[in-house]
This record gives sequence, structure tokens and C-alpha cells, in this order.
Amino acid sequence: MLDISTQHDQICRCDALLARQRRRESSARTYPRRLPVALVAGRGAIVTDSAGREYLDCLAGAGALALGHHHPVVVEALHRTLREEVPLTTLDLTTPVRDAFVEELFGVLPPHLRDGCIQFCGPSGADAVEAAVKLVRTATGRHGMVAFAGGYHGMTQGALALTGDLGAKRPLGALGAEVHHVPFPTSLRCPFGVGGDEGAQRCLRVLRALLEDDHSGVVAPAGVIVEPVQGEGGVHPMPAAFATELRELTRSAGVPLVVDEVQTGVGRTGALWASEPLGLDADVLVLSKAIGGGLPLAVVVYRRELDRWSAGAHAGTFRGNQLAMAAGAATLRHVVAEELPARAATLGARLRAALRAEAGDDPAVGEVRGAGLMVGAEIVDPHATDLDGVPVPDGARAGAIQRGLLERGVLAERGGRGDAVVRFLPPLIVSDEQVDRIAAAFGAALRAVREAA
Ligand code: PMP
Repeated sequence: MLDISTQHDQICRCDALLARQRRRESSARTYPRRLPVALVAGRGAIVTDSAGREYLDCLAGAGALALGHHHPVVVEALHRTLREEVPLTTLDLTTPVRDAFVEELFGVLPPHLRDGCIQFCGPSGADAVEAAVKLVRTATGRHGMVAFAGGYHGMTQGALALTGDLGAKRPLGALGAEVHHVPFPTSLRCPFGVGGDEGAQRCLRVLRALLEDDHSGVVAPAGVIVEPVQGEGGVHPMPAAFATELRELTRSAGVPLVVDEVQTGVGRTGALWASEPLGLDADVLVLSKAIGGGLPLAVVVYRRELDRWSAGAHAGTFRGNQLAMAAGAATLRHVVAEELPARAATLGARLRAALRAEAGDDPAVGEVRGAGLMVGAEIVDPHATDLDGVPVPDGARAGAIQRGLLERGVLAERGGRGDAVVRFLPPLIVSDEQVDRIAAAFGAALRAVREAA
């Protein structure tokens, strides 16, 4: 226990850091507005702020930290790379570290991609999405893309054009690719007002008409891009029947399917690759976040027959970060060896069940959903309904719950329509007991907000 004056000093230090951040950093800053914490340490699923307060980290670097903070296998891989004095960044010149990363990844890719190609990109998910679009445009000689409402693919202009969230596009729109958005099936807020399999079938009919009707008004696209579980869009897992038909439709139309696994990849959803059990058979797989073991790394992996772009088609300085490749290879090896995808499935089911139990019959919780450790609780206004009689999203109440979680030692994000989905993305190494604490904090925050209303 710290004495009172040390505690006071630490709180002052925290406030000073936050005040300086507010003064220096741009108004485009995001997370610190909702989560005003200055973090000084992290271990496993726990981070500590400069006032000595501990939090269960359900941001995990927006899903980048599959193994949490300072996992021994990641730390050892980083130390080894430094000890061996490997050149830290090498453009796309090869090194034993790069070679080991590629071999590790290809050893566990979905089988149909194991004789494919890899392109290292600038180290963000958005840059890998840009590369994927460029790749399929070059390979097909076509221009436009099809994307899904609610999808999220990044903040560069091309990736933004593919993204559904209008908040990020206003007021300027997005430069770049010609994009047509089609509806994605959602359980609570089905665009056709019917939900379930019927809603998913109707979404498919729109896509089928777009791809097959010679009067659809849309010239054959270069690719269709999709997330197996929409993350930022509010945690919407793709229904299995939708996945099967999406694959068949794109295959028969000769349109490459680009699967964005930036957030779902490396075990998060209960499978190493979320697209695999869905049978999506990606023509192009986009990977970032956890693939670098918490350090910046992004790649696209794709079928060899698409490899028609020319030398330098997607260049960039930081495509050779050796520390990220070493951390990424170590992470992949550990996730597979320890069967963490299966663990994520079990823990995710536990978290969803516990969140539902905490919510009880509170009408402000519209739905708890997710896949593996990608979990969301949609907060609604029980007194206002949309045309289908579904309660409307309540972002203000979700914000109050997010603050309540913070006060109770849990860092959680928000997303989805109206920013009303409280999102939990803990590292895959979170314990059962920590999962229960997350749910208990959610329940307490929910009750506090209800009582204050
Ligand atoms: N695609 C998906 C599915 C994502 O979730 C994200 C990031 N949240 C991106 C792309 C963009 O990645 P980055 O922020 O690294 O550019």
C-alpha cells in the first residue's frame, strides 16, 4: 500500500501527463478522450497507470496484443534479435529473421494459400488494405470494389473509401477507389427488418444482383472485401450460410475475395484464422495487428495467380522491421502450440454468458454477441424504437458504461452504430478469473448508470 503523499504525487504526475497530451496532441486524437489514463507498465492482461491504478486491458492495442503485455516468449524473441545485432530495418532485403517469420506463417496458413505469395506492406492494417486493393485491380484490370455496410478497413483514403462508418468520412468523403457498399447481415439491426437466416439471404440477394444483373449499374468490380467478424462496426460475426454463398457468388463471378483479418487473425475469434471455419477461402488475406506480436507489421498473402503486379508496385520504407517479425513469429508459434484459439473460444463463451447474466433483464442491453474474444454488448434506449420496433442505439448510455468500467478498473472500447456497442478485446492469455472480473465490472457499471438515470 502506498502512503498518502506518494499516492498524491502519482496522481499529480498522471494529471500532468494528460494535461500535456491535451495541449500538444491534435484534436484528431481518439482514445485518450474517452479513456484519460497515462499508462506506465503492462504485464499480461493488466496495465498500470502513472497513479499506480491497475486496469484489465480489454483494448489490448486494438487487438494487437494477442499474448498481452510483455509475454516471456515475445520478450525473449526481442532480446535475442537485439543480442544478435540483426540490422533493425532492412526494407525488403531478406534476413534469417524475415525468413523464419515467413516460414512460420506459411506453415499455419489456410492450406489453399500455402503455395501463394506474401507482400510485406507499410506496417499498418490500412496500408495492407491499400496493397490488397492495388493487387486485385492490377490482376483483374478492373477498377471498383465492393465492400459491406458496417465494415472497417482503415483510415488512409483508399481504405476509408471501403469503410462504412460515415463519422470518419464526413465532411470530406474519401478519395480513391470507386466503392459500392452492400448490406452485411446483423442479428439485432437487420437492414431488411427480418434478421436471422432470412436477413442474411436478403443481403446476399443484393450482392447477387450487383454482381450478376447486367443492368445493375455497377461494372464488374476488381474485388469484394469483407471482415469475417465486423469489429469496429460493432462486433457482427458473419453467419456461416452467408459465408458459403459469398464465396460461391464471388467465385462464379470471377471476382477475387479479399478477407480482412487484421483484427480477427491469429486466434482472436476461436480459430487461428476466422475465415477458415467459415470456408471463405480468401483469395487475398490481409493481416496486421497481432501478426507482429504487438509491434508494427502488416502483410498480404494471396493466391499465386494474382501475382501480376510489377517490381515496386507497393513499396514503402518500413517493410523490414526485424523486431516485429521476431515478435510475430514467436507469437504465432506460441498461439498454435498452446492452442490459444480454442482457449479464446472457451473464454469468449464464458465472457458472453457472464455479461448476459449481469445484464439480466435490463432493457438497456440490446444484445451481447461476438466470436471468441471479440465481444460486444450493444446498449440501447428502451424507450425509443426504430421502424422495426427495435430499440435504437444509445451511445450516451454506452459512454457512461465505458466510464463506469474505467472507474472499476477495465479499459474497454466502443464502436458500432451510434458508438453504442461496448467492445471487449482482451488478450488471449486472459484468465477465467479476469474474464469474470470484466463481466462483474460491466454489471456494476450498468447498475450504476441505471440508478443515476
Ligand atoms: N481492418 C480492420 C478489420 C481493422 O480492424 C483495422 C483497425 N482497427 C484496420 C483494417 C486498420 O488497421 P490500422 O489501424 O493498423 O491501419
